[in-house]
Amino acid sequence: MPVDTKESMVRVEQEIAKCDRCPDLVLCRKNPVIGRGADRAKVMIIGYVPDIKSAEETGSPFRNSPEGELLLQLLERAGCSVEENAYLTYIVKCVPKTCEHKDRSAEKTNRLRLLGENNICLLTDRECTGRIATPTLLERENCLHHLSREISVTTPHVLMPLGLEATTTILEMYLSISPSHKTMSDYHMRVYSSPSFKIVPLYPPELIIQNEDTYSLKEYEKDFHKIGKFLEMS
Ligand code: SF4
Repeated sequence: MPVDTKESMVRVEQEIAKCDRCPDLVLCRKNPVIGRGADRAKVMIIGYVPDIKSAEETGSPFRNSPEGELLLQLLERAGCSVEENAYLTYIVKCVPKTCEHKDRSAEKTNRLRLLGENNICLLTDRECTGRIATPTLLERENCLHHLSREISVTTPHVLMPLGLEATTTILEMYLSISPSHKTMSDYHMRVYSSPSFKIVPLYPPELIIQNEDTYSLKEYEKDFHKIGKFLEMS
């Protein structure tokens, strides 16, 4: 009997919501960021780690942020929407932070949510000033399990990792391609094929917003137009 997709997705979401595999990340997270979008997706957009201000705040990817808005607008031009055929997620679902409030005492680390109302750290009663950091390899490995589940439920035709870290992680995971290029310009818009889906890496939208000298919005818009055509054929 085919497993109901919606039910499977709810199960994946519940697993992520209560996941505590990475003690350091659980310690300071406000919300794990659960993917959002169509239960059956044509395209899956995969960032590396959630944005600390918007995604972590809402627990939902690419929301309430200029880069999220840009991404959704361009996806729409490519004939995609989270309501119909696109799914947005991250490789690591909790924001890795360098946080001065980490307290490793056994009793305190048993608490799963350490930030109370108004961003107050429950360990120290001070506002958390943690800044975004790079996840460890183990944290990344821990969370790839959730990504695999999201992919197996939504069955996208195309994976689109955003940025160098997300791209090299996905290529290594699904095509055993070791990172051979040092810059995103070597990967952007190249098409890789796996037996189950295509992989098309992209510059992340924040780079286009923050540094149009590196890659122009006009070119980025054209890329999404090409992606729309490509998705029609996939
Ligand atoms: S980063 Fe992923 S694996 Fe680690 S605690 Fe968060 S949801 Fe779990």
